[in-house]
Amino acid sequence: MKATCSHCGNHWQLTPEAIAIALEKSPSKGRSIGVECPRCRHLVKVARPPQAAAPAKPESEAPS
Ligand SMILES: [Zn+2]
Repeated sequence: MKATCSHCGNHWQLTPEAIAIALEKSPSKGRSIGVECPRCRHLVKVARPPQAAAPAKPESEAPS
């Protein structure tokens, strides 16, 4: 997943770790998450990855 800084034009690859940190810092209802530009520290909004929000659950507890 790539991010583009609107402040300095920097492009960089977001690591799963960076995304996890951004998810923790961002409100859970928003559709986007904020990541910090490694070059200028500007807060850049990127689309929230759909599957990264929650840890994978085993399907043993299926609601019936
Ligand atoms: Zn930047």
